[in-house]
Amino acid sequence: MVFAPSPLRLSLDGDALVANWRWLADRSGAAACGAAVKADGYGLGAREVVARLSVAGCRDFFAATWAEAAALGVLPASARLSVLHGVRKEDMPLATTSPARPVLNTAEQVARWRSTGLPCDVMIDTGMNRLGLSVAQVADGLLDGLAIDTLMSHFACADEESPMNDRQLRAFTALTGQTRAKRMSIANSAGLLLKGASLDLTRPGLALYGGIARPEATGHIAQVVFPQAQIVQRRRMSSGETVGYGATFTALRDTEIAILNIGYADGYLRSFAKFGSAGQGRFPLVGRVSMDLVAIAIDAEPSLHEGDWVDIDYDLPLAALASGLSQYELLTGLGDRFDRIWRH
Ligand SMILES: *Cc1c(COP(=O)(O)O)cnc(C)c1O
Repeated sequence: MVFAPSPLRLSLDGDALVANWRWLADRSGAAACGAAVKADGYGLGAREVVARLSVAGCRDFFAATWAEAAALGVLPASARLSVLHGVRKEDMPLATTSPARPVLNTAEQVARWRSTGLPCDVMIDTGMNRLGLSVAQVADGLLDGLAIDTLMSHFACADEESPMNDRQLRAFTALTGQTRAKRMSIANSAGLLLKGASLDLTRPGLALYGGIARPEATGHIAQVVFPQAQIVQRRRMSSGETVGYGATFTALRDTEIAILNIGYADGYLRSFAKFGSAGQGRFPLVGRVSMDLVAIAIDAEPSLHEGDWVDIDYDLPLAALASGLSQYELLTGLGDRFDRIWRH
């Protein structure tokens, strides 16, 4: 069966991805800089991200589950992969034959893995109360005899000025030398911009893909993900006519509009109706966002045709501010009706 290209695509800037990683690696100082590629590389396509960043020199990758690890297929020879959710009983057949390491989070996971003698990472909870063993469990000798590559923790508030950052960093670095771990790692995108938090390995995700995790990154991190939609139909609205569900927009004068092939089922949510635009602000959205369609006013460029491609404005920090969604949701919500096309 032959498929036509989708009328909806993400244009992905591979050079920007690599440049973002290089900047983050530089800001990581002497620490190695890895890459979080969970949720299919935050929606970009994890295989493509791993391939590009491996060529750039990235060695350490992080997926959430063993299904995600398997979906990566054969890794580049230089790449190492850690599975953040650890290892369940039902994961053991896959996990023990996979080159990836589990990040052990619980005493049960430690017990399950210890008998394999295989390498692992370990997550320590230093105050987030999400995943990880307690500092007290380490002191009790729970990790004795494990072949630990990287001891990890995770910041709760690295994107803010919070006393918790320092508290977590001190609690974690106090474990240096208390285990056989070769490396210590606590910093995500925001964390690696905090003083002294890069340790031996950083684990950025969001910033690789163009998210601004802290104000310090503004001007250094470039947009990677550019949604583009094709015009399904264009039309002229006469003054006084309305567009879309609820007839929420009324043309105050004759207006040229284009109907684009994108909607809330693609992650382009209804809240975008209030502020969304295309063509670098030249074409404001008019009316509501439908499941598969939106309307834009194209008086600024009436030469646009049925079948032409239009750039949807998707500046992550601006869109997050306007929509109330996080930059993470804005990336991972982009659905599977987009073709993902790498420019570089
Ligand atoms: C997702 C994740 C990261 C990356 O976080 P960003 O905020 O996207 O940089 C790093 N470490 C862990 C444990 C994670 O779950």
